[in-house]
Amino acid sequence: MKYISLNHNSSPTSFMKAVINGLAPDKGLYYPQENITLSKKFIESIKDMDDVEICYEVINRYIGDEISKSNLIDIIDKTISFKIPLKKIDNSIYSLELFHGPTLAFKDIGAKFMAQCLDYFKSNYSSKKITVLVATSGDTGGAVARGFLGTKDIEVCILYPKGKISKVQEQQITTNGNYVKAIEVEGDFDKCQSMVKKAFNDEEINRKIALTSANSINVARWLPQMFYFFLAYKKIKNKKEILFSVPSGNFGNICAGILSKSMGLPINHFIASTNINDTIPRYIKDGIFEPHPTKRTISNAMDVSEPSNFIRIQKIYNNDLQKLRKNISGFRFDDKSTKEAMRSLFTTHNYLTDPHSAVGYLGLKEYMAINNIENVNGIFISTAHSIKFKDVVENAIDTNVDYPKSIKDIMVKEKKSSSIENYSELKEYLLQRN
Ligand SMILES: *Cc1c(COP(=O)(O)O)cnc(C)c1O
Repeated sequence: MKYISLNHNSSPTSFMKAVINGLAPDKGLYYPQENITLSKKFIESIKDMDDVEICYEVINRYIGDEISKSNLIDIIDKTISFKIPLKKIDNSIYSLELFHGPTLAFKDIGAKFMAQCLDYFKSNYSSKKITVLVATSGDTGGAVARGFLGTKDIEVCILYPKGKISKVQEQQITTNGNYVKAIEVEGDFDKCQSMVKKAFNDEEINRKIALTSANSINVARWLPQMFYFFLAYKKIKNKKEILFSVPSGNFGNICAGILSKSMGLPINHFIASTNINDTIPRYIKDGIFEPHPTKRTISNAMDVSEPSNFIRIQKIYNNDLQKLRKNISGFRFDDKSTKEAMRSLFTTHNYLTDPHSAVGYLGLKEYMAINNIENVNGIFISTAHSIKFKDVVENAIDTNVDYPKSIKDIMVKEKKSSSIENYSELKEYLLQRN
């Protein structure tokens, strides 16, 4: 499979190049050159197949012969090595829990797959030592760091804004051992991000180090997110309609679901659920794409006003807004309703959610209420474990929640990080290490 750039000013390239580059040379997102349709026979047999076999069928044509079958199966096996339960909330509502991975957030799946692909390709593309450089506002850093656990000769360097991420997130970034270099930056996330960008454009650094990004727009993080839509489908034992509500920020997760549907997975409708950073729900309604300045919310992994993956969704529907509207609805919710939803799920159903998943639940409820829909498989995606947002959750439900064992263990580990203030310190740090 070749990958084109959605800016249409770079030539098509291999999967390997797309993974290593992250973005195309013209700064466009990579997109598969061919549309893939899965056979009816495969779709009908999903319910009897093994999980790894399903995921292999879903992704192998996006990779072609660039990774051998046995290696790809091994990569998939490591990627989906934790449970992905579909919990019943009531007769028509289910939660697809994607937070049982090592850092308790759905980003573990994409991060692991990408790390394994880079590990597989590394000897092909550089004799220099590879450094993965990422800026994080919280969840991405931990997931990427853990994704690379066990890979060889790849160093991960994570920049995060000092004092601006949660304690759990900080421990997940700073306690991984030697292959992860955690760097606290005096400043905010934007400062971290711009330092990373500068490093990628720095000729001296590029001459000496093979730098690569682990950005969420990387095809190797985006495509494996299709797995859980297929695996959820496998678990459904009735013939009722299937709706997915996806709490969305950069729209990578929902885009993978929409791609799955375009390949033939029988999903009836998608609901894009956002917080008050609601560019896409407004666009679906009015047809006007008009980002507002980003506002802070309690579901902060979705504080995004220009979702980078949305262009891929438009590509799937050939920029046809009517077609998009037939398949996707969008709703936005403020922090007050999000907290109310967390409380009501807890008191009525004894179910704990984090603020992001609660937004997904609200979107599903709203869509079903407006359209008078009952008796379906309404699935909201739970993107993070409630403990990752302990303070918000405790405040919303007015009850203390305990750390699970895996987090308790991390909380007592010794934090190892370096502290920097400006770009020249980052540059010096990277050069002296290599
Ligand atoms: C990243 C993230 C999201 C948003 O996912 P996108 O693919 O960017 O839309 C939602 N919830 C949590 C907890 C996240 O970490």
